Amino acid sequence: MKQYEGSHFLFKYESQDSEFAQSVINTAETMYDRVSRDFDIEPDTQLFTLIICPDTESFIIDAEKNESYQSWMVGNANYEKRKLCVLSPSASDRSIDEMLAVVRHEVVHIVFGKVSDKSPDDISPLISEGGAIYLAEQVYPNLLDKSTRPDALKLSDEDYFYENEGYNYSGVYMGYLIRKYGKEVYKKVYSESEPLEKYIYNGFENDAIDSFVMK
Ligand SMILES: [Zn+2]
Repeated sequence: MKQYEGSHFLFKYESQDSEFAQSVINTAETMYDRVSRDFDIEPDTQLFTLIICPDTESFIIDAEKNESYQSWMVGNANYEKRKLCVLSPSASDRSIDEMLAVVRHEVVHIVFGKVSDKSPDDISPLISEGGAIYLAEQVYPNLLDKSTRPDALKLSDEDYFYENEGYNYSGVYMGYLIRKYGKEVYKKVYSESEPLEKYIYNGFENDAIDSFVMK
């Protein structure tokens, strides 16, 4: 594999992905700087390893997803192991732009790894995935529907999250929280120094959806 050492990441990729790797390098480094600055999170001094996996088999091994692998999984971040994996666009049905959004998403998880002592798996997906989706610009406003939208707080339950388009709606709800109350509030909710319930009011979900649809 080829290697490139950036300011925050050590990139590893196969030579056939060299062109994509250039975009990944720029995207990941820029996103890491931007999110840590915007949210006032001290950057790590040690490098994280970011692997561009050339195929699904190597993704499953590198991301350590044996039983838990699902075909829609194309990115992974593990703060404790200081490792990120993204699947090469040549091995997935995603476009290059979609995969660069996945890179931004995984970088958000890595920056916020510092904010909480909890393992990301133990943080509410509403909070951790919602923030990553919003900040990586992965919200699809045209798929939002007020008549079928999930309740925000119920999205903390993992099963409910996956059964109710949790990614898109949590991105909308956390995006609205960040815009309305500010980045510091999102950080407090993420680290559990404040309960999310404090900021969710009757009508929160519909206001959040309106804020994304009526732009
Ligand atoms: Zn995620």
